[in-house]
Amino acid sequence: MDTSTTTITITATATATAISHRRLVLLPLPFQGHLNPMLQLANILHSKGFSVIILHTLCNSPNPTNYPHFNFVPIPGTGEDILNFSDMDKIISLLLYINTKFINPIKECLERLMSEDDGVACLITDAQWFGTQNVADILKLPRIVHRTSNISSFVCFAASLPLYVKGLFQRFSDEEMKLNAPVHGLEPLMVKDLSKFLLDDSEGACKLLELMIQGTKRARALIWNTFKELEERELEALGQHFPNPHFLIGPFHRYFQASSSSLLAQDKTSLSWLDKHPPNSVLYVSFGSIVKLNESQFLEIACGLAKSMQPFLWVVRPRSVEGSEWLETLPDGFLERVAEGRGYIVKWAPQQDVLAHPAIGGFWTHSGWNSTLESICEGVPMICSPCFGDQLPNARYVSDVWKIGVELENGFQREEIEKAIKRVMVDEEGLKFKNKIQNMKWKIDLCLKKGGSSYSSLEDLVNYIVSF
Ligand code: UDP
Repeated sequence: MDTSTTTITITATATATAISHRRLVLLPLPFQGHLNPMLQLANILHSKGFSVIILHTLCNSPNPTNYPHFNFVPIPGTGEDILNFSDMDKIISLLLYINTKFINPIKECLERLMSEDDGVACLITDAQWFGTQNVADILKLPRIVHRTSNISSFVCFAASLPLYVKGLFQRFSDEEMKLNAPVHGLEPLMVKDLSKFLLDDSEGACKLLELMIQGTKRARALIWNTFKELEERELEALGQHFPNPHFLIGPFHRYFQASSSSLLAQDKTSLSWLDKHPPNSVLYVSFGSIVKLNESQFLEIACGLAKSMQPFLWVVRPRSVEGSEWLETLPDGFLERVAEGRGYIVKWAPQQDVLAHPAIGGFWTHSGWNSTLESICEGVPMICSPCFGDQLPNARYVSDVWKIGVELENGFQREEIEKAIKRVMVDEEGLKFKNKIQNMKWKIDLCLKKGGSSYSSLEDLVNYIVSF
């Protein structure tokens, strides 16, 4: 079944006239990895002629001055510092919390916007705002879900629920949990991936998953930041359980210049530092906006980088290492060695520009979907250190299915880190990864061109919204 297209009957001219009067409300989740693709999507839809309203929480709100062409509507009463959680399991309670506490204020905002002359044609929310489906139903407002992960991991998540209910997750002993065997029904995830897949609070994670899946099933359609050629098989599996129309229009960030939805200031000196290095020589190291490390993991990373003898650009977010404000826990003498020019550490980088820099030869990543896709777009092979959730299937796909990088299988250990860096940056194997990922990059260029899969899917999406 081809779920990527929907039968559309509206003519092109009728579409153009209809679009210019359509207002869309986009509601992002207030995390960096969710804000970026939602604002990129907003830009894409605006370029097609829609008016865009960004409905946003007061906490982690995007900077409106970077988007003068959008209207920004804050949701009253949402200014709590919701990003200020100390461990990952708190994310689950946080998402459940905002999907109850913030829903009424969202409804009131939508009612007000709908009562204005221009009305609202459609609500597009992050999949994690599942509580808004009831509001959309009450207000008779079409809701489209934007899922910020890829299809492969979503299929894994959806398949994990019945397995969890059957008790499969609890069935394995501690020894078995280290197994390199695939889990039947969750391929390509391995048994050893399970413990981190649904975090430690697997019951809470399942509750959240169930609500998200229900909210997604009831939505009119789904928008994906991926491209058909990458996930054709998974798209078919998805269609069997989610018969909604699916629009695969990614990679979003390739439509326009690098995003300006960064919540932290991007240190542009990383680019001038890269300018001093030969092509493909530098390893870029970043674990995204949420992952936190303990002191011993941080130390192993530092020692692994030091032992590898490879130049590196390392993003260390302030307070991302337990018990440390920034770099206090680095080994003695490390900074002096870094100062010799082989390494450069910043608090936050302009990642898309960094990955596009010719000096970059590899990306050691936590395998968040934005980072993975940004790396594929620039043809940069990866070393994967997934920590939780969709990062696990993303890393499995990178190493075992797409074969465009390696996974650090046993956490952070300096010898293994050194070996992995060598495999990707120095050995012949690295060239194979590079060739494969360059081929994907080429497919991306094609899918965004007129007649390409993402290009056509975007046209279908525009027509679909106009048909409401
Ligand atoms: N990012 C950035 N500068 C950095 C690190 C990350 O701009 O130093 C951006 C990156 O380009 C990506 C996002 O932050 O768009 C991280 O999203 P991802 O899904 O990879 O991970 P998350 O932060 O959600 O775990």
